[in-house]
Amino acid sequence: MDLQLDPFYVINMKVNLISDTVSKPSKEMLDFMLNAQVGDDVFKEDPSVNELEFVIADMFGMDNALFFPSGTMTNQTAIKLLTSPGDQLICSKYAHVYNYEGGGVSFNSGVSCKLIDKEKGLFDHIDVMKSINPPDFYHSPKTSLVCIENTTNKGGGACWNIEEINKIKKVCIENNLNFHLDGARIWNAYISNGIDFKEYGKVFDTISVCLSKGLGCPVGSVLLCSKEKYDEALRFRKIFGGGMRQSGYLAACGIYALKNNINRLAEDHKRAFDIGKKLKTLSFVRKVEDVESNIVIFEIDEKIEYQKFLDELNKKGISIISMGDNKLRVVTHIDYTEDQHQYFLSLLDELNI
Ligand SMILES: *Cc1c(COP(=O)(O)O)cnc(C)c1O
Repeated sequence: MDLQLDPFYVINMKVNLISDTVSKPSKEMLDFMLNAQVGDDVFKEDPSVNELEFVIADMFGMDNALFFPSGTMTNQTAIKLLTSPGDQLICSKYAHVYNYEGGGVSFNSGVSCKLIDKEKGLFDHIDVMKSINPPDFYHSPKTSLVCIENTTNKGGGACWNIEEINKIKKVCIENNLNFHLDGARIWNAYISNGIDFKEYGKVFDTISVCLSKGLGCPVGSVLLCSKEKYDEALRFRKIFGGGMRQSGYLAACGIYALKNNINRLAEDHKRAFDIGKKLKTLSFVRKVEDVESNIVIFEIDEKIEYQKFLDELNKKGISIISMGDNKLRVVTHIDYTEDQHQYFLSLLDELNI
């Protein structure tokens, strides 16, 4: 395929692979949205929001679900629910809650993070045991929460092993710790390993899921919790400014996406595998993380200025992003078409770096 030889084709190509959040709602989703029944959700009178919350709680086998504007807000609410000021939480050094939520952990909850330095944003129950501060040693912060991410984001879309999650849960019970799942891309983990959502529902105190990533919704995340935590979650959502009114239009997109857009994630994964495979054949690519879902993390030769590489791709209509630490990231999504995919693959072959 030599699409890139046609200059008009190159000029018109806009392939955005910086994140799976860049996708726009499809016509079918917008039609579904237009027909949504709505009400005032702050009074819990929006039938579409209520339906979405019911459906997701049922999928995970948890008591309650609460619709939020963002995944940052669901994570922050969970941390607020499960900690007290001065506490410490345990997470990967790559965690979204640590790196990409504006310092909200300390701003909102007065909590610090103990970071685990392991590959791909994963760790095991021994790492957790080693990271717990002795509870009667009052000089150090009290450890009260473990957060994991599935799939991992900066970790390269890696999926957690459910046995390891269960072992960590055991450590949490023995040490009186809460356990939160940042499941922004839990749908991708499901497509990758088939582990039922209810398996997570059994283990975690709170779960955050995003509708605005691979599922192709314009906005929205959901926090899952027990009925004991629900009233407090509702209060914190209000405090954080996340109470919305006729948000049923947005919730409707979520209802549509859960029915129609989960299984198709397999296509995104296949394209990410193709990209990973292609990158491995290129002389200037130093390392490609194993691809497990829709994220490809790779590093290019130190001799090459990575900004130059990004600019070169940009000139040809391809946008990808740097994650710092010399890592570059490609994320496939619902709006990344087969034509764009073939174009990107052939372009990589012919890049002159
Ligand atoms: C995107 C993301 C979130 C939430 O981000 P928002 O942009 O606030 O919705 C949380 N955790 C992970 C791992 C993410 O990738």
